[in-house]
Amino acid sequence: MKCPVCEMDCIDSAKDLLATLPTIFLPCADCTLRALDKRSPLPLLEYTEICSCGKRFIDEVFAHMYVIMVEEGDLSRTDPLIAVGSPLVHPGFAMDRPPFLPEESLVLLTARATKKTAERLFREVPELRGVVKKGDFIPGITNPDLHSVPKVYALLAGCDVRADVFPLSTGPLVMYKQQSLIHIEFPRMGYPKIRAVEQHVGKPPVSYFVDACSGVGTLGLTAACLGVPHVVMNDAWYASAFWSAFNLEVNREYLRISRVKIFEQLEDMQKHPVTSDPIKIAETEGDQIIEVYQGDFHQLFSVLPPGNNPVTVLDIFDKKDLTSLEPFKREWLERVGGEVFVP
Ligand SMILES: [Zn+2]
Ligand SMILES: [Zn+2]
Repeated sequence: MKCPVCEMDCIDSAKDLLATLPTIFLPCADCTLRALDKRSPLPLLEYTEICSCGKRFIDEVFAHMYVIMVEEGDLSRTDPLIAVGSPLVHPGFAMDRPPFLPEESLVLLTARATKKTAERLFREVPELRGVVKKGDFIPGITNPDLHSVPKVYALLAGCDVRADVFPLSTGPLVMYKQQSLIHIEFPRMGYPKIRAVEQHVGKPPVSYFVDACSGVGTLGLTAACLGVPHVVMNDAWYASAFWSAFNLEVNREYLRISRVKIFEQLEDMQKHPVTSDPIKIAETEGDQIIEVYQGDFHQLFSVLPPGNNPVTVLDIFDKKDLTSLEPFKREWLERVGGEVFVP
């Protein structure tokens, strides 16, 4: 599938991506493993070349990037290896050992590399998909009042689109995202949010499910994959709403849909990064109706048909003050009905 960010073919359908998973990060018999201490500087300014199988141990990829960043003056010789940045592996899933990385399987989040260095890293380190400049803030919407314009990280080189894979009882779900625009949520052991959705959807599945703060669509698509016939996903942030719609297309083999109609593309949506009144971004045709809106979840009731009593998941970013959600829950139950839960 054509990538909406780099316009290359860096996106696979869920089925194609999952076919690579069993062995994607495993070494061949000739691969070498050198475990490096991330808290110390690289002992010598050298690294091992890529194995004939096309993969290299992740620590060795970091050694390669460290050497380049020292040569360019972005790191000093006394900086620890970890100063290179944080690895976001593609595709991301729970692994029980560090990966041997094939080509284009790593997005680097770095506070230290300049744009010039990032371009050199991308040219010379084949494992890289993209390099993102990390700031000391969380990208995307962090404030529920929706009045401030969200800050985002900068893509310095390559493409920052990558996928995470979530295990469902029906098979794995593949969720793509543009890493510079979305807050980074490392899945917790046992995927408690997915399990909570499975529990509330039940068997046979409920008939109507709303994911009111959908992010890139993980929980709404979980409900759709579990067979819920009508699912609504909504997020006020354009990048989240866009990727919710795009991930419908990525996972369409698991859904009973004949067509995904996407009404707005990424560049159109950039013109309204945060919206209050819901705008319909995408809708499916077929046995399952899945709708994606961009808007404030407080306004979402205005586009939902009354009297259908959905199960609504409210995965808000800031869960520190759950009591402040009580008025919203009451309002939602009066206007929309059904059941609301926080995963
Ligand atoms: Zn791309
Ligand atoms: Zn090998």
